[in-house]
Amino acid sequence: TVVLGIETSCDDTAAAIIDSHGRILSEVARGQAASHEPKGGIVPVLAVAKHVENMPYVVKEALDQSGLTMADIDAVAVTRGPGISACLSVGFNAAKTLAAVHNKPLIGAHHMEAHALTARLCFPDQIEFPFLSLLISGGHTLLLAVHGVGQYTQLGTTRDDSIGDAFDKVARALQLPWKSGPGGGAGAALEQAAQRGELYESPVAISEESPRSRPSLKIPLRVPMSVNHQVASLDFSFSGLKADVFRRIEAELASHYGQFVFDMAAAFQYTATRHLLQKVKLGLRYCQTELGMAQPRALVCSGGVASNTYIRGQLQDWAAAEKGGGGIPLFCPPPRLCTDNGVMVAWAGYERLRANMVDSYDIGVMPKWPLEDLKNWPNIKPY
Ligand code: ATP
Ligand code: FE
Repeated sequence: TVVLGIETSCDDTAAAIIDSHGRILSEVARGQAASHEPKGGIVPVLAVAKHVENMPYVVKEALDQSGLTMADIDAVAVTRGPGISACLSVGFNAAKTLAAVHNKPLIGAHHMEAHALTARLCFPDQIEFPFLSLLISGGHTLLLAVHGVGQYTQLGTTRDDSIGDAFDKVARALQLPWKSGPGGGAGAALEQAAQRGELYESPVAISEESPRSRPSLKIPLRVPMSVNHQVASLDFSFSGLKADVFRRIEAELASHYGQFVFDMAAAFQYTATRHLLQKVKLGLRYCQTELGMAQPRALVCSGGVASNTYIRGQLQDWAAAEKGGGGIPLFCPPPRLCTDNGVMVAWAGYERLRANMVDSYDIGVMPKWPLEDLKNWPNIKPY
């Protein structure tokens, strides 16, 4: 089985072809760096114009690269939502028309389901349901129990900003560059800055003299939702942390540009990661005790922010320790499949096709689309 996937929910025009073994036969993406960079963020009208311009070439290139023609394609999958309505429409209409003209099944994929299921393509036969999914991206911060294709329980979501947005805003406040396209946003720049930062006051002296005491942080920030009445919640929050960082930047940036930027980036990344870890730990326990579900078989971390090496490393350290106690293996797709791409849409399409979840040619886009509503498929009501 061979599936063509098309993605245009945001600022990348992407298409890819995969087969049922998860082999990637082709993978094409055109970013829009030049159009959005001067504005420091995505401008929807420009994004639509670029999608319209790029769409035919991206699909054609995906076919050419794979050496296949439309006759060889078994199904067309496309991102139906959530995303920017006008952007979604470009890929959506291309996919519907291709599918209808060539008499192929059409699958309207949920962008976040696609982010979550990509890991099953990357690690074939290693990630069984049910699993725990930490989806961290530009628009979402979700902790999910994934029971099967289309079957999600949302354990937690952000109460304010998404983690990706917080990374982007903090990076901008630190005057780091914003980039469009694969691996874009400003998150990657923040990660690079953090690598040059010092997290601890004086790590060497402390580890020599009192190896057991924790070195003190150079810029201590409060981990979000760590006050009493909030600790048990599975939700996330990034606006308080962001505001705290902004206050300190305002006070210090003018006089301390240079090392301060790197240290601040490191402190923010560290604190955001502690927050994620606390919720993942709680979530795992919640699945086991409150939800009465089978022990999650894995923790999957995906979405654009999951391309962050520090976050992956910290999750891995925890998962490995947890594993000792009968715990949980961690799976993260490679960074290029964490950010938006056509492969994840093609794969989500394949998973749905395999479950006979084919859509009719008259479906519409779903700019707002809670993941939990997927369990009502095919009775999906527009918001
Ligand atoms: P959504 O999937 O929620 O609709 P999106 O598709 O716009 O949002 P993605 O492409 O999944 O988002 O991810 C983009 C986000 O990932 C941006 O906020 C970007 O800053 C962030 N990001 C990318 N690389 C890194 C990194 N190395 N560290 C932290 N954040 C990163
Ligand atoms: Fe995305």
